[in-house]
Amino acid sequence: MKLPRAFKTSMAAVLSAALLATVLPATPALAAAPAPATSAVQAQALAVDGGLQIAAKKIQRNPSKDDVFVNKKYPLSPVKYAPKTVAVKGTNVRLKSSAAKAYSKMAKAAAKDGVKIRAVSGYRSYNRQAELFNYYTRIYGKSYASRISAVPGTSEHQTGLAIDVGNANGACGLQACFANTPVGKWVGKNAHKYGFIMRYQKGQESVTGYSYEPWHFRYLGTSLAKSVKNSGAKSLEAFYGVSGKKAKSTPKQTKGTARTTANLNMRTGAGAGNRLLVTIPKGKSVQLTGSKKSGWYQIRYSSKTGWVSGKYLKNISMPAAPKKDSKKSAPQKSTSNAKSAKTTANLNMRAGAGTSHRVVLTIPNGKKVAVRGAKKSGWYPVKYAGKNGWVSGTYLSNFSSSGTAPKTTNPKSSKSSSKKTIANLNMRSGAGTGKRVILTIPKGKTVTIRGSKKSGWYPVKYAGKNGWVSGTYLR
Ligand SMILES: [Zn+2]
Repeated sequence: MKLPRAFKTSMAAVLSAALLATVLPATPALAAAPAPATSAVQAQALAVDGGLQIAAKKIQRNPSKDDVFVNKKYPLSPVKYAPKTVAVKGTNVRLKSSAAKAYSKMAKAAAKDGVKIRAVSGYRSYNRQAELFNYYTRIYGKSYASRISAVPGTSEHQTGLAIDVGNANGACGLQACFANTPVGKWVGKNAHKYGFIMRYQKGQESVTGYSYEPWHFRYLGTSLAKSVKNSGAKSLEAFYGVSGKKAKSTPKQTKGTARTTANLNMRTGAGAGNRLLVTIPKGKSVQLTGSKKSGWYQIRYSSKTGWVSGKYLKNISMPAAPKKDSKKSAPQKSTSNAKSAKTTANLNMRAGAGTSHRVVLTIPNGKKVAVRGAKKSGWYPVKYAGKNGWVSGTYLSNFSSSGTAPKTTNPKSSKSSSKKTIANLNMRSGAGTGKRVILTIPKGKTVTIRGSKKSGWYPVKYAGKNGWVSGTYLR
C-alpha cells in the first residue's frame, strides 16, 4: 500500500472539501442559483442561441410585477432592482410580501398534511449576488462560476419572488434527490395552488439554461401559476413560446457547410449554459464538423471550433458524408451494422439522441436490445420491450450481427485515458451540477476517464471512487 501518497492525496481532498465547506456556508444554495453570463456576454444578449427568443405571448419585464420574466437572456431592468421584502414568518428568509404570504399559506397547508417545509433561501440582493459570483470566479474561473452562480441582475432570487425550499431535517438539501423526499413530492404536486411553480424542471436545461432544481420555486400568483401548470409546459420559457422547439431550417445533416440565419452565439459546448466564444454575424458560412448533440451543432468558424444551436443554421451544401467516427479504429465497423447489443448498466432509453430527451423507459443491466440503425453522436436507436428509443452507446456491448466482437464505448473517448484537474473540482454522482458532490478533487491531480463525455461532463475515477466532473476543468 502506497500509504504516504494515498494519505497525502486523500488529505488534500479532505482539506480542500473542508475549506470549501467552511469558506462557503452557502455552497449548496449557490449551486441552486441560476447561471448566466458575464457582462461581456450580456452585451451579446441580442444574439440568439439555445431557444430563448421573443415570444408569442407577451413577457412581463417590469420587475415590480409578480409575473416578471427573468433569465440569462432577460436580466432585470434596472439591473440593480431591489424589491421591498419582508421576513417569511418564523424565518430570516426574505421575500416580497405577496410571495411571503403565499409561502406561509403553502407551508401551513403542507404541515396539515404532515409535511414540514423549510424556507432555505429567498431574496438575494444584487450586491450579495455580485459577491458570490466574484467569489466563485476567483476560485473556479469565470466560465465555471457562471454555470453554478448567477451573474448579478439575472437571478430570480433578486426579484424577491423565488424561494429554495427544503425538508425541515435537511434531507437531500438542494440536490436532485430532494424531489423524492416528502417535501419535494408535496411541493411538486401542490405548489401551483399557492402561486408557485417549479422553475427548473428535469431535462429542461437546454431551454431554461439551468440544470434540474426541484427545490427552486417561483411565485407567479395563483392564476398564472395554475395556467402554467395546467398548460403542461415544462418551463416558463416554453409557456411563453420562447422554448427551443426545432425550426424548419435545422440542417438534416451534420457535415458540410451551413449559413447562419441570425447573429449566432458560438459556445464551448452544446447548450446555452456554456461559455460564449464568439458571436457569428448573420449570413456567414460555417463548417459543420459532423457532431450534433441535442439540437446543437459543432462547427468551425474563423479558425475556432465551438457549438451553435441548429435552429439558426441553414444548409448550403451537404456532401453525402461518411460517418465521421469510422476512421479511427478498425473493430468499430462491427457496430455500424450491428443488429443487437447488450446493456452494461441500467440504461435510460430516451426519445432522442441525447440526455435532454424524455426518458421512455429504463432498460435493466445485461438486457439484449435490437439496434435499429446508425449511431448518432454516440447514441444508438434501439428497440426494447416493444418500444423504440435511443440509448447512449457508452453502456452497450456485445454488438452482434456478423458475430464480430464489439466496442463497448464511444470511440472518441473509449481509450482508457487520463486528464489533469486545473482547479479544485467537485466530483459528482452524475453529469451536472444538480448531482450530489462525492468529493472535491484538488487542482493538478490526475483522474482516470472511464467513458464518454456527456453534456460536457466526464465519468472519472479518482481516489478509488467513481463519479462525474465538468470537462471545463480537465486538461
Ligand atoms: Zn433558487
